[in-house]
Amino acid sequence: MSAIGHYIKSFLLVEMLAGLGVTAKNLFRRKTTLQYPEEKTPQSPRFRGLHALRRYPNGEERCIACKLCEAVCPAKAITIESAVREDGTRRTTRYDIDLTKCIFCGFCEESCPVDSIVETNIHEYHGEKRGDLYFTKEMLLAVGDRYEPEIAKAREADARYR
Ligand code: SF4
Ligand code: SF4
Repeated sequence: MSAIGHYIKSFLLVEMLAGLGVTAKNLFRRKTTLQYPEEKTPQSPRFRGLHALRRYPNGEERCIACKLCEAVCPAKAITIESAVREDGTRRTTRYDIDLTKCIFCGFCEESCPVDSIVETNIHEYHGEKRGDLYFTKEMLLAVGDRYEPEIAKAREADARYR
């Protein structure tokens, strides 16, 4: 377009009117944005979020330190150390997940024979520095303790775990 053409377009505010036309066209359409966090989009039942370690109803840790989850983790995000207790049972002395490495594939929970490590539907967590997303056994158990009713309900509803 020539310089004169550009000048005439600018003078008549053609582009601004075209922009306002787009605004007017969409003004009364159904909104696709939400006022998060007050409003939320539906979450897929297959969503995999923050990990948790679960306990049995008597408070005993489910994890038997078999290390299947550590072996299967493709991101090598899980670190486990274990020891045998006085009663002869084996339990973890260390169970860490580095969520900066985790790709949320779900292999760890699929592999667990005692339904101990699970991925919850929690997605509202964050870290402000790298170490904040390094979850220790105590942190994972705390997530499990806090959300056990929701975790149990979600797993009951999921046919894969019946
Ligand atoms: S979800 Fe996948 S990547 Fe993350 S800890 Fe479990 S097995 Fe590893
Ligand atoms: S969380 Fe499950 S798979 Fe992982 S070590 Fe414990 S019992 Fe084994």
